[in-house]
Amino acid sequence: ATGNLDKQKTIDLRKKHVGPSCKVFFSHDPIKIVRARGQYMYNEKDEKYLDCINNVAHVGHCHPDVVEAGAKQMELLNTNSRFLHDNLVLYAQRLQATLPEKLSVCYFVNSGSEANDLALRLAWQYTVNSTLSVPPLSLHWDLNSNQFLRSVKLTALSPDIYRGKYCEDHPDPATAYAENVKDIIEQAHKKGRKIAAFIAESLQSCGGQVIPPVGYFQKVAQHVRNAGGVFIADEVQVGFGRVGTHFWGFQLQGEDFVPDIVTMGKPIGNGHPMSCVITTREVAESFMSSGMEYFNTFGGNPVSCAIGLAVLDVIEKEDLQGNALHIGSYLTQLLDDLKKRHLLVGDVRGRGLFIGLDLVRNRDKRTPATAEAQDVIYRLKEQRILLSADGPHRNVLKFKPPMCFSREDAELVVEKIDQILTGNSGNSKL
Ligand code: PMP
Repeated sequence: ATGNLDKQKTIDLRKKHVGPSCKVFFSHDPIKIVRARGQYMYNEKDEKYLDCINNVAHVGHCHPDVVEAGAKQMELLNTNSRFLHDNLVLYAQRLQATLPEKLSVCYFVNSGSEANDLALRLAWQYTVNSTLSVPPLSLHWDLNSNQFLRSVKLTALSPDIYRGKYCEDHPDPATAYAENVKDIIEQAHKKGRKIAAFIAESLQSCGGQVIPPVGYFQKVAQHVRNAGGVFIADEVQVGFGRVGTHFWGFQLQGEDFVPDIVTMGKPIGNGHPMSCVITTREVAESFMSSGMEYFNTFGGNPVSCAIGLAVLDVIEKEDLQGNALHIGSYLTQLLDDLKKRHLLVGDVRGRGLFIGLDLVRNRDKRTPATAEAQDVIYRLKEQRILLSADGPHRNVLKFKPPMCFSREDAELVVEKIDQILTGNSGNSKL
């Protein structure tokens, strides 16, 4: 039987047999969850937690429609995509319908990392146009010098207008941050390197809930394409309607922006391990022209596609994108009110149900309040609310709950944060 072990026994067995690099949440006092539904999770004592962090359980934990679709298909058939199957083609067609027309070719894989690796391989093949296979994340063949080149990852400035190099008082941060990418490209060219791709999250999640200024992606794409590279938008965390006004995060940049490749994961299967890379016919043809076959054992199997279709159905049927917009705006408003009352709250930023609360020790200097953020999440946990702190300084309280999050949930979490901050500061005048 599963789920019946004494909690300490679970901890002991995990220490003994599970790779230690994966840190458990709340490592001083981890939580054992045995079931979940909607936006609530239940521990071994059946105590209920409000989940503000699981963007994977996009349409709600264990949504009955998704569970049923997966179970039914599992009973009938699950096999690889070398056989014809309607689920695969219908799902590709449904996903495509959410995207700009030219993003029309799908590759189904199993995790966000796998999707990004494949996206980079597509980019290399397209830009280098080699006839040899490209090992992921390591080498590519250069036709000019007739040798393998090590691929190099160059890091651009984070387009963060709160804590970055160019802030909200800059006249044109979008252009300034894009110029940084242009400079990096020029430096690379000077060293005889080629540019295969620029890859970025459409909104940065682990990077501290950073929303790139509008126009940044268009300008970056122009510089990258001028250099022969492609633009990859990573929608692994923020896609599928989470930003509220749009289905995809990159669409916040405007109608005129279309990436060359989009990667998706986490919410795509509501917890079922699946992911996807979508690109243009042109990029896909170039990959094909390498002569190398690409096949993925589990990617696009009938069960995953049935689940993916059910997730899209639920988003539509329950208008979860609309809910993300309305509840997200309401939550943002409540958090803005908190900012008025607590100096510790330096910035509230987000779109839809993707919101960050940037805690600072000093509003002018924007000094990250790392320890305070950790304290808040531990105290919330005592009140059975799950929230995380992220960003380079781990001081940004990060909201990315299941999309069925309600007004009452928003009110509860903000009320509890308010109480904690009041307690912390004594008189709310930190
Ligand atoms: N892209 C982004 C933006 C992510 O946040 C993550 C995982 N945190 C990944 C890719 C990798 O996804 P996975 O863990 O499914 O491999």
